[in-house]
Amino acid sequence: MATPKKKVSKSRRNMRRFSGGNALDKTTTYTCPACSEPSRPHRICACGHYNGKSVLPSKKAAEAQA
Ligand SMILES: [Zn+2]
Repeated sequence: MATPKKKVSKSRRNMRRFSGGNALDKTTTYTCPACSEPSRPHRICACGHYNGKSVLPSKKAAEAQA
């Protein structure tokens, strides 16, 4: 198996990562269908919805009940 000959320094690694046009420094978002807030994919939204379903009691609903 091909092995790198030298360890890539933190400096060189970061220069590669943060040089322009790299997909690594872009965060993908999707819009929640329940609250239409931008959210990260594959994560529960702040309103407690995941994949269009309510999976957690939302903070707003909990406050309304209290
Ligand atoms: Zn939401």
